[in-house]
Parts: sequence; structure tokens; C-alpha cells
Amino acid sequence: MLQDIAPHSFHNEFKVPPPPPEGGDSAVLFHEGNVLLTGEGSFPSVAEVLALGAEEEKLIYLFSVDEQRFYLLEGPSESIRSGLKTTSPAVFRRMEPPFLRLVGATAMHLANWYRANRFCGFCGAPTVRDDKERAMRCADCGALVYPRINPAVVVAVRNGEKLLLIRYADRPMVAQYALIAGFTEIGETMAETARREVMEEVGLRVKNVRYHADQPWGFAGNQMVGFWAELDGDDTVTLDTREVNEAVWLRREEVPESHDPIDLTHTMTELFRLGKDPR
Ligand SMILES: [Zn+2]
Repeated sequence: MLQDIAPHSFHNEFKVPPPPPEGGDSAVLFHEGNVLLTGEGSFPSVAEVLALGAEEEKLIYLFSVDEQRFYLLEGPSESIRSGLKTTSPAVFRRMEPPFLRLVGATAMHLANWYRANRFCGFCGAPTVRDDKERAMRCADCGALVYPRINPAVVVAVRNGEKLLLIRYADRPMVAQYALIAGFTEIGETMAETARREVMEEVGLRVKNVRYHADQPWGFAGNQMVGFWAELDGDDTVTLDTREVNEAVWLRREEVPESHDPIDLTHTMTELFRLGKDPR
């Protein structure tokens, strides 16, 4: 999955003081929802963005993979943008080597969080980056804002030797089936989220909701938590057609094969297809 980058190791601990950028470090830049890459499709080096006119003190240390450090440059100027290639962040899903997929998704999560918290949500004053931990501090009222992660579940519902797969109404471009998924609401446990989402989207009752694994999913600022669940009672699907276009019970041999799965949905679906899902 996205986070499985062995033998490399991901280091996201906050450093005091932040390590100063060196020319060979990597820079991550976003503009209007896109990522700016080199002509070869990789992250530019710090030396490259400095040569394009970036100011060194604006580089924000994000994290490292092994000894390779990554810095965010917010709000890249026209001259910097024109020297790089504007690319959809979908590119992160297939970047090589694979640890760059985690780098891209996590940098995107952090970049969106920094951008969304330039002002204090309590009093409206500008915020500054805290120097002791990863947080934004209000210069006026002192409020601290920590990185926001949205918990969400993925539920693989089994009925004996069949798995429930769906197609989401708002994702017509995604050809493959998906598992039921949804955000945790304030005031509920994640297992309750799983049961509620299954009921809302397909009108089914489930039992034996069991944790499988979870993963950071920076593309959407989420922490995805995967559960297995068993159908409880009637298998008649009642679709919430605002969200779901189609729901089908597929036997193992009918489940479409997923190559190089980086997300929980495809990892769990693949485990089921191969008969390796935990019972
Ligand atoms: Zn404030």
C-alpha cells in the first residue's frame, strides 16, 4: 500500500530547529491544485527552485525519506511556475520509485493544511508557524491549530463467498468497483461509521465488523480505516442513488484483478479475490 515503502523509512518528526535546505534536497510545489514537477516528472531540487527565483527562507521543512529531505514552497511565483511542468497530482499514484507516492500524497496533505490555516479560525488574525511543533499559532489570540486528519472507513462486506462491490455515482471516471466508504461523524466510533455507511449506501445490516488495517491518505487529507464485515440477514440491496450507482455481490473469481494496489479498497478486494482475506 501507499505507506509500505520498505526498505526506505519515512521520518515525519518535527525538527527543532528545522534543518536548513541544501541544494540537493527536494522541493514540493503546488499551484491551483496541481503539482509542479521537472520535465522528467520528478520533484525539483532545492537548487533548481532557487535558480528559478525562490527565496530560501520560504522553504518549509516537511519530512525525510531516509536521508532525502523534502521542503514545501508555498505560492510559487510565475517565474518559478514557468520553469516547471504543471501536472495533476494523480501522477503521485504511479510515481517511481514507489516511496515518492507517499511523499506526494503526504506533501499534498500538509500543503493543503498550511494553506487552509493562514488565518485563525477563532479571531481571524493571521497565523504563524509554531517553532516547537507542527502547528499554526495565532499571532493575536494564541490559538494553536494542529494538522487536521479526517478519519474515514472502508468496509468490505462479505456474504459467505461473495463480496459486495459498488460504483459511486460521483466517480464516473473510475472504471473499477469500489468498497463502501465514508467519513466518521462526530460522536461515533469507527465501527459504528462502518455499520452506518453500509446501511445508508446499500440498505444492508452487517455484523462482526472487524478492523483490518489503516493507512494515511493524504490525497484527501484522510486516515482510511479498513474493516471486514459480514452480512446480517437479508442480502437485498437498496441503493442510495445519490451516492451509489450500482452494487453487486461478486464471487471471488468474478472480482476484477487489481494490479499494484496502493489503497485499502484495492488491497482488501485483492485479498478476497485470492482467498486470502482473514476469517
Ligand atoms: Zn486568533
